[in-house]
Amino acid sequence: MCADELPQGMFRAMDSLCRGFFWAGESKAFGAQCLVGWDKVTRPHDQGGLGIRDLDLRKFDATLDLQNSCLLLKLIHRLYTANDSSWAAWVNERVDISTMTGDIEGSHWSTLQRLLPVYQSITTVTIGNGTTTSIWHDHWLECGRLTNVYPALASHAATTTATVARVLADGVRAQLVPRLSRLAAQELEEVQEHLQRVRLSSHRDTRCSELFSPDGTLKTSALYKLVMCATYGPGCSYAKFIWDNRASPKVQFFGWLMVQERVQCKTNLLLKNIVNDDQCEVCANGAEDTGHIFYGCSFAQSFWNAIGIQCRIHPLRRHGSCNGPSAPLRSTAIASPCCVTGSFGNIKMKWSSDQHTHPFKGC
Ligand SMILES: [Zn+2]
Repeated sequence: MCADELPQGMFRAMDSLCRGFFWAGESKAFGAQCLVGWDKVTRPHDQGGLGIRDLDLRKFDATLDLQNSCLLLKLIHRLYTANDSSWAAWVNERVDISTMTGDIEGSHWSTLQRLLPVYQSITTVTIGNGTTTSIWHDHWLECGRLTNVYPALASHAATTTATVARVLADGVRAQLVPRLSRLAAQELEEVQEHLQRVRLSSHRDTRCSELFSPDGTLKTSALYKLVMCATYGPGCSYAKFIWDNRASPKVQFFGWLMVQERVQCKTNLLLKNIVNDDQCEVCANGAEDTGHIFYGCSFAQSFWNAIGIQCRIHPLRRHGSCNGPSAPLRSTAIASPCCVTGSFGNIKMKWSSDQHTHPFKGC
């Protein structure tokens, strides 16, 4: 996966196998066996998922595959930074790596070419000789990428393949179409002011990024998390409570299902036509949903009372989606001053810890 782009059919087959093994312990899982959507399962913990790696980026990018792409970026990174790579030296002799164009063709190379904008977007350049830096697409000026800061001027570029070295030698005007709009002409003056302050040296251009480790390697796992965070937004509210503790993985997984109301309670089984009604068989006093099992049922309440927790229960509201915890149930526990608070989606509670041990409590 870190050497070449894999076919989409292979990703679908691998995802199908992962889903089947995860939910059914078989090579294939049916819809009713999948308690949470695979899209949610493959999010990181702090995005509400289980942290299983997503192989498919097409849902985000419509071009490449996330895990595959993150690993392939290491090849581009090697082209720009590795001095001892014979492959990088071979490629540098044949192509202009600022644009990845030259005397190399093929599907593998086309994949790397499509990834170049991604690599340019996550790196900044300290200019040396300017030969490996795109004047338009790389972030080499403090003001930002010229295509972003001066879009009118960039739209008048005759070619987008010019390097900083070429532009400083020939002048930026030589890279533009003859006639400029008024706005482009204004932007040209500002760009020329920037270029007048640039001095080239004999050293290679240097790439920097917060995604580089101290030894200069590209941290693809950090990049993966960055893409996930950009896709799904900031972290979910229950991640810390579910995962930041010393409970066994089995308990954590159950808690993860519970906050999403995806445990196999009768209300969920009724939706799948597995049972004929959703009445609680223990107390026969209400629908057996997630909140009822753990806090609403008289049997559950007797358990909480026995260990010193008093809960005031309100009915859970059903949610059809699995995009995160639903609105908090106004459930409270009368607890001692020393307590642990937690939120299970619709259920908020405080857990007394003066005499009892909270199973989710971290140390
Ligand atoms: Zn009950």
